[in-house]
Amino acid sequence: MSGREFAIREIIEKNSCNCNTGKPLATANIADIYGTNVFNDAAMSKFLPYSAHKKLKNIVKLGGKIDDLLAEEVAHGVKEWAISKGATHFTHWFQPMTGLTAEKHDSFLSFDKSGMPINRFSGKNLSQGEPDASSFPSGGIRATFEARGYTAWDPTSPIFLIENTAGATLCIPTIFLSYTGEALDKKTPLLRSIGALSKAALRVLKLFNNTSAVKVYSTVGPEQEYFLIDRAYYYRRPDLLLTGRALFGAPSPKGQQMEDHYFGTIRERILAFMQDVENELYKLGIPAKTRHNEVAPAQFELAPIFEDSNIATDHNQLIMETLKKIAARHDLALLIHEKPFAGVNGSGKHNNWSMSDSDDNNLLEPGKTPHENLQFLTFLVATITGVYRYSDVLRASIASAGNDHRLGANEAPPAIISVFLGEQLNQILDNLENNKKTEYSDKQIIDLGISNLPVINKDATDRNRTSPFAFTGNKFEFRAVGSSQSIAPANYSINTVVATILNQFSDTIEANIKKGMDLNKAVMETILPAIKESKPIRFEGNNYDPAWEKEAEKRGLPNKKTTPDSLKDLVAKKNEEIFVKAGVFSKREIESRYHIYLEQYSKLVNIEAETALTIAKTMILPSALKYQGFLAGSIQSATSVEGFEKGAVKSQVSMLNAYSKSIEELNAKIQKLEKTWEEAKSVENVEKQADAYCKNIMPAMLELRNVVDYLEQVTSDEYWVLPKYREMLFLY
Ligand code: ADP
Ligand code: MG
Repeated sequence: MSGREFAIREIIEKNSCNCNTGKPLATANIADIYGTNVFNDAAMSKFLPYSAHKKLKNIVKLGGKIDDLLAEEVAHGVKEWAISKGATHFTHWFQPMTGLTAEKHDSFLSFDKSGMPINRFSGKNLSQGEPDASSFPSGGIRATFEARGYTAWDPTSPIFLIENTAGATLCIPTIFLSYTGEALDKKTPLLRSIGALSKAALRVLKLFNNTSAVKVYSTVGPEQEYFLIDRAYYYRRPDLLLTGRALFGAPSPKGQQMEDHYFGTIRERILAFMQDVENELYKLGIPAKTRHNEVAPAQFELAPIFEDSNIATDHNQLIMETLKKIAARHDLALLIHEKPFAGVNGSGKHNNWSMSDSDDNNLLEPGKTPHENLQFLTFLVATITGVYRYSDVLRASIASAGNDHRLGANEAPPAIISVFLGEQLNQILDNLENNKKTEYSDKQIIDLGISNLPVINKDATDRNRTSPFAFTGNKFEFRAVGSSQSIAPANYSINTVVATILNQFSDTIEANIKKGMDLNKAVMETILPAIKESKPIRFEGNNYDPAWEKEAEKRGLPNKKTTPDSLKDLVAKKNEEIFVKAGVFSKREIESRYHIYLEQYSKLVNIEAETALTIAKTMILPSALKYQGFLAGSIQSATSVEGFEKGAVKSQVSMLNAYSKSIEELNAKIQKLEKTWEEAKSVENVEKQADAYCKNIMPAMLELRNVVDYLEQVTSDEYWVLPKYREMLFLY
């Protein structure tokens, strides 16, 4: 029996003994478990002295330094809390450039003066760590001989506990820096960008006479898409195991064309999985809210309630890890790759983004008064202008080998970044630009004196599912983020470009006021030119329409289809400038990131190429040769029968000939890929190497795939060893 048949039998058996219906391991009242594994306010008030609790809360809210005494007090309290919950170890938890999270566990074990074992966790343990970090990607910032990097506690993201079968580990969210203070992770620039946005937005709020806000932060709600298949297949698909995507596989006759999966009834087995995931997330204080079947078969989505972008970033990492962990418990494999299966929809992460002040006012919420509306328009136009001037930065922030398969396919936002506003807002901006009055019903119109602005009705925004950056009533939805990516780069990029424009707006508004204009006029004179300038980025039509590509080109919008092409924009002068000015990156940090991303791209495609070659040579070719033998054998045995009419096997002979030609083709494509792969591997310059992987290896892999997928469709089912799409997507 082939591995594939074995997997199918295993699943059928599990289904027939009802072992696959799946019961959640535990069901609980959300209110009882929510946040129980977080060192939250409730835990702090129990385990910290009152003064320490208050001081820490203040620092989290307003910023400030944590002194040694406070660090000691918090360390002691959090240790007692963790031990009371069964923890034995602690770790600094950080997000290096791998895009994953990293942890290095230390036990609380220490010895007192008399040599007796005690549990100890000091203020220094809490505040700073020194992982020997030479093996993390640094893009040349830290050579291995000067391997020191350090982690520093980020008190703005809550400390939490990860439970495992071995007990529990106390996790301290940290940033990760080189010895010289350069960022080696995804969180440091995010935190810096939040600071830059806060400063810039507060400046604007002050102009609008808001004096109570002390901070502005970006809010993010990332909707996470993913696939689940039975583990039995996963183990028998080296490509899924090593690269996260099926490098081969003919389309299933039934795919997503019936549109019967989206929002369909969730199978019991999946529901049990989702229930367990949610229980884990609730304990971690992660507000998982929505779960549903997605468009593709075996594809699902989890959406949390939005949070401060720093916490949302940590939580999204934890969501991805929890999905993976719980999938294993349910004998399922999580596929979080952007495009695990060619031919059906890929997975993204709709990154809902807005800004909120410390009084919980959403700055992208249309107002109720003309004054509020003008403020809303200022933030709205700043965002649009930022996206217009730096759409290449946003595109580069989500560039990856995986996401390349998704962007530009007719299911996901294209590689061209555009902004959708909805008819009403779009018309308002057009009319402002043309100095026309916006015509709406009396109820909606409020005379501003300069121009008529209607009260913008949240529910009036229509939906455009094809837009990469869509306004959805009181937030923007950046839809191009890939499902496996950290959301940090997307958000620090948005924060930085918006902060940049807000600062420019403030400069102009302040200068206008100095010239004697009143606030309304000073603001209008500032945003009108920006509305005009950024007009090319606004697109209300269908982003999947090929005509859009031509139109976008006419408008001068960038359309970078591949990662190596798009990444170049990271180091463009105009883009480096804004990151440096906002204090988000130094020039060296940007350049190191550029190198890391290029290297990651090349390494990933390299693994794919090697895996494709291995599968083709050791799994596909042998199956094909077997079937060729079967075809030849059947002709031979038929013609050896006495009296058999030779002409009766004519069609079989041509079948054999055609099939043998495909085997020739298979061998030729294997050789071609092998050759291009050897060439690409030996290119030394990182930029040139990424180009070689992109321009030579990717097409060679696709050519090989086309032959293999054809063979799958004409080879005896019995001989085919790789689990097929139709099974993986429908039988679980
Ligand atoms: P839909 O887009 O389907 O109408 P919602 O509006 O409820 O759904 O929100 C989708 C996602 O956007 C959710 O994760 C939600 O928490 C998030 N979201 C809602 N408001 C904001 C906001 N102000 N900032 C960031 N994300 C938000
Ligand atoms: Mg969605």
